[in-house]
Amino acid sequence: MTLLTKTQPNKLIYKVTENMTRMSKSISTKEEALAFIEQYDHFLFDCDGVIWLDTVAIPGVVKFIEWLQERGKTMAFVTNNSSKSRNSYVKKFKELGFKDIVKSAIYPTCYSAALVLKEQLNVKQGSKVWVLGDIGIEEELKETGYIPVGGTDKNLDGGWDPNSPYLEVDPSVRAVVVGSTKELNYMRTAVAVQYLLAENKSLPFIGANIDRTYPGPRGMILPAGGSLVNLMSYTCQRDFINVGKPSTLLLDTILEDQNFDRKKTLMVGDTLYTDIKFGNDGKLGGHNGGSLLVLSGGSKLEDLDNIEDDSTRPKYYIESLGHLLELLE
Ligand SMILES: [Mg+2]
Repeated sequence: MTLLTKTQPNKLIYKVTENMTRMSKSISTKEEALAFIEQYDHFLFDCDGVIWLDTVAIPGVVKFIEWLQERGKTMAFVTNNSSKSRNSYVKKFKELGFKDIVKSAIYPTCYSAALVLKEQLNVKQGSKVWVLGDIGIEEELKETGYIPVGGTDKNLDGGWDPNSPYLEVDPSVRAVVVGSTKELNYMRTAVAVQYLLAENKSLPFIGANIDRTYPGPRGMILPAGGSLVNLMSYTCQRDFINVGKPSTLLLDTILEDQNFDRKKTLMVGDTLYTDIKFGNDGKLGGHNGGSLLVLSGGSKLEDLDNIEDDSTRPKYYIESLGHLLELLE
């Protein structure tokens, strides 16, 4: 009896899932590719797994971006990776052979963290901000007029020292930003905890992203900033402000900044719960939808069969942007 009641709903769920899968359209012919691209004037691209894998451009993507530029399409890059500032991304795009990618079209979450502190939370410029994260956050905070502390400070590289002066809460620190860092250690996390618990947990807690992992070289899956943000959230029992995708606040800011028409904008990403949800929640592409999943990063075709939350279902999917270009040419 128990077995029957359990099996029945599972079967139903499976059938629904099967039908839902077909709702994401595969782009597989030249005609489909041309009709698809025709719908959009503006393109938002995730970077890791879409444009590049670590330090290597995904085959065909440099030419695809040129193809769009030649046709007067406009674009911006939105990455939940907070480890590099906009200046570093401009350099990276250039080094990988991309032409004319300007700083004002790049939105890493280290930049959105600084923007939110200044524009939404009204944290006074000149305040110190504790950083558990990489240099990109420090650079963008500085550029916005804040004084980053913690972060890549070499004095925090040593082992655990319960008598370290860093563990004394500095009252001039007015916010905490957490993002991915390759310098993670117990000392840095312990100090971050002091600030997150300080003043009755009232200092703003910015999470640079909710990504669990990101695609590394040679097919590796590596831990991303969300794993650290959630570690801090769990430890301190408090919520964080997510300044990365899929925040609709971030999307609205970008559309306004870039003067993109929502109905003519496409979001391209490799992650369902951040990129695709970002495009869907933001109602990009009007009634035709505006989310494209590429399978060159973290998500695989099988993942489309297991979508439970409709807001994470891409409107379209394709192997990679290089494949899309092959169809278009
Ligand atoms: Mg990605």
